Amino acid sequence: MTHSSDRVIVVGAGPVGLCLSLALAKEGVPVTLIEALGDDNFLEQVPRAGTNHPATLEMYDCIGLYEKLEPRGIIAPVFHYWDRTDRKLIAAFDHVLLRDDTRFPYVLQCERIKIVEEALKMAKAHPGIDLRLSSTFERFEQNGSGVVAHFVNPAGEAERATGAYIVSAEGARSIVRKDLDIEFEGFTYSDLTLNIEVAYDFRRHGYAERNYISDPVEWSNLFHWKGPPDRWRVHFPVEASQDQEAACRPEALQARLQAFLPTGRDFDIVGSNLYTVHQRVAKKFRRGRAILAGDAAHVNSPIGAMGMNSGVHDAFSLADKLVRILHGGESDEILDRYERQRRHVAIQHTQAQTIRNKRLLAEKDPEVRKRSQDELRRTAEDPAQARAFLLRASLIESLREAEQIM
Ligand SMILES: Cc1cc2nc3c(=O)[nH]c(=O)nc-3n(C[C@H](O)[C@H](O)[C@H](O)COP(=O)(O)OP(=O)(O)OC[C@H]3O[C@@H](n4cnc5c(N)ncnc54)[C@H](O)[C@@H]3O)c2cc1C
Repeated sequence: MTHSSDRVIVVGAGPVGLCLSLALAKEGVPVTLIEALGDDNFLEQVPRAGTNHPATLEMYDCIGLYEKLEPRGIIAPVFHYWDRTDRKLIAAFDHVLLRDDTRFPYVLQCERIKIVEEALKMAKAHPGIDLRLSSTFERFEQNGSGVVAHFVNPAGEAERATGAYIVSAEGARSIVRKDLDIEFEGFTYSDLTLNIEVAYDFRRHGYAERNYISDPVEWSNLFHWKGPPDRWRVHFPVEASQDQEAACRPEALQARLQAFLPTGRDFDIVGSNLYTVHQRVAKKFRRGRAILAGDAAHVNSPIGAMGMNSGVHDAFSLADKLVRILHGGESDEILDRYERQRRHVAIQHTQAQTIRNKRLLAEKDPEVRKRSQDELRRTAEDPAQARAFLLRASLIESLREAEQIM
């Protein structure tokens, strides 16, 4: 097996693969980035993540990406918890309380598609990144000194790329994870999540840019996504037993929105999609020279906006270690530290918080609901407790804790 001694092969040009590639290339590590989508269809991806937490913004800033995203996003310092049954605001949290903890005391509402569009432009312009678009990764092999990735190029021919390490940033269906026979432990929620995109400004009803709305029958999330012109997204649960096609019909979407907020006028619905939500973490994040990052390593519900953010945090943690191995001569045992740190974050922070968030929103027992809402209200009213809450919700605490793991 021949290999290029310090090249890293990254599979997948999602937010994680692109951030990793740019962070490695910035430090002079050559990268081959293999992506199945091409210039003709790269921007046609389903709407997904959109909330970028403060620590993630700091990381984007390190690679020059933040300045490209800020003009395309919405700065949102405040988020709300609401009770839908009586349309009451339970608690408001303001990131300004994190002004001594981060240079960015706010989230940036900026869609995944804009992030990958801007990062892809940067990757194309970087001489250290060999970008292979319209190329579908199929399998890989490794030995003690390197890896070979096999992919099908745009001409439909089988091609190989060689390197010192391969990183799977292919998303939840990671071929690398499956080939390595690594278990993806966890569960799948029985209900699906319906995402409806609406042209409407919900702020006129008192909502913040991000709102988590609890209800024993139909919890929801409400996010300002982009604008002007304003685009908001509303998430609702859809029982698995429900007819999925019927749930997505325009009249059904309209009825849900009218029940959520009766305005007396039809909402202008721009789009919708229905997706299954998993809570899973890979049992191993590394086997030899193959490493998992982002959704390839962990997936979670979008309540709390942690999937993409924690994936980007994986990318920067991993880039730091690969640079130290490939250019600093350190032992690749530090990749086991990557696994210890990032699996800890995935299990103790991302999974734990997103599961708790969903439980809080969907709780049916009136007494438990009242207790949880009272606690949330007290937390928001006390600045020290509210800051601690924000440190957890924005994943800053997860990064600090990971640093303590050797
Ligand atoms: C509806 C929804 C809303 C969400 N909202 C949020 C949010 O607000 N905040 C948040 O943090 N997270 C959110 N998430 C999660 C977030 O979208 C993911 O965590 C994030 O996109 C993962 O990034 P990634 O780079 O690991 O993988 P992906 O974004 O899945 O990217 C993987 C890339 O790999 C490519 N690829 C796959 N297979 C191959 C192959 N065989 N060969 C070559 N290329 C391949 C794909 O084309 C893709 O470009 C949301 C998810 C959903 C579904």
